[in-house]
Amino acid sequence: MPVVIRVTRRGRINSQNRKFKLFKPTALGRPAELIAKPGIKSLNRYTPVGKKYPTPEGKLTVVGDNGLTSSKKKLGLVCDRCHQDPDLFQDLFYCTKSNLDNNKVPCACCGQFNWTEAQYILLIKREIELRGPDCHYQFRAFDGGTINSDIMVSFINRNNGEIVKCNDGSVWWCLIDNFLGGQWDPVTAKIRTSEKTRIDDETLTQKFIENGALLPGGRVKRILEKEIEGQDAYFFVEVTCPTCECDEFVQANVGPAIFRSRLSNMSEGKKPCRCSNDYNYSQKEREYMVKKRLKKLEGEWCGWEAYTGNANSSTFNWICRKKHTCNTNLSAFLNMAVSCSKCSELQQASRGFGYGYIPGRELEPDNVYLKLYRQKKTNVLFVKVGRAFDEEFREKCYARDFCAELIDTLWSAQALHRDCYDIEQAIINKFENFRPTLPNIKKSRETFISTISGELVRYAIKQTEKLNRK
Ligand SMILES: [Zn+2]
Ligand SMILES: [Zn+2]
Ligand SMILES: [Zn+2]
Repeated sequence: MPVVIRVTRRGRINSQNRKFKLFKPTALGRPAELIAKPGIKSLNRYTPVGKKYPTPEGKLTVVGDNGLTSSKKKLGLVCDRCHQDPDLFQDLFYCTKSNLDNNKVPCACCGQFNWTEAQYILLIKREIELRGPDCHYQFRAFDGGTINSDIMVSFINRNNGEIVKCNDGSVWWCLIDNFLGGQWDPVTAKIRTSEKTRIDDETLTQKFIENGALLPGGRVKRILEKEIEGQDAYFFVEVTCPTCECDEFVQANVGPAIFRSRLSNMSEGKKPCRCSNDYNYSQKEREYMVKKRLKKLEGEWCGWEAYTGNANSSTFNWICRKKHTCNTNLSAFLNMAVSCSKCSELQQASRGFGYGYIPGRELEPDNVYLKLYRQKKTNVLFVKVGRAFDEEFREKCYARDFCAELIDTLWSAQALHRDCYDIEQAIINKFENFRPTLPNIKKSRETFISTISGELVRYAIKQTEKLNRK
């Protein structure tokens, strides 16, 4: 017997009380017989000498004894079930009368039967035979321990003469009970399971169209797990979606036309393709989407600033049509939430947010004016354009903000808030190159040098007239 190199004890598949398939399939139902004792061929030729004892599977008949006396005396028994298998049971079963009376079963009809090494080897051979031509096992050795139900067994692959091994290359030692219960080595077991559960692709396709994982016209193709490296315990399918098969991503050659999905995900109705909101876009696909939107915005792609695989934490660089350099969050950009932040700032400004335009009060009467101020410390004169619902209050604010005193109101008009706002902005934009320099004061786009007071007033009047002609 070979020396045991390594034994891995796995959990027992069945209960300790399992009863083995004793018979070759062809041997079922033949009469009980014994072949061990010369001259004794069959149960029928025995003369029952005592009572019968039932077993869980049949009955035992006393046909003699072991020839000893008193406490060593054991009755010799024939089991009408076990002894149908004379290859396995070549002798009578022996048991004391008191044990029999206490319902002890000495034959293999009970789960606790103590098999001999020879019987185990025969059972193993039969199990291999039962598994059919696909079974490549040939008995190699027991693990060297006492022959009982805890013994481990190993095998030779009769196709190549090599020892049957586990995934990690170690020898596959199988608990005898488990082997006789139908266990395969892990490598073969995986292949067999996947083959056993292999539903044909047509049926699968139909199933997934029904549960919504696949659009009508789509197809799935089963891939055995063993074909996918590094993946464990899942089965995969290749999925063709009629929409995604030839969509813009495929045409631009940036995304797959066939998708790979776990069978379990498909069974839950999850679409594996770009039709799904949960589709995990690749970097290439995302870059394509960004460039597509940039094209609409007349922007120019510069490259990834950071690509993390997660759109929320990825950023890229680009240049907007107004030549602003932008660094934008991928997720926000693709969700159309943002574009060029500088442009949108300016756009907001032109809409007036932050520059005094008050949405919701468009139709209220408002005042717009040009006022001449003098900065107190420097005596610099400057013109301030402004608008206010409460003109007097604003005057005080200007005096404070510019450290200046009001000299004169050069021009003023009353109109709807939205018109006042438009006039004010028109003036601001028209004379943006005539800002005064006021020491210690933040530059304001609403101030102008006093020397253009005349132009300012003329332009203001023109704007008012334009409004009146509307
Ligand atoms: Zn029996
Ligand atoms: Zn799709
Ligand atoms: Zn811009």
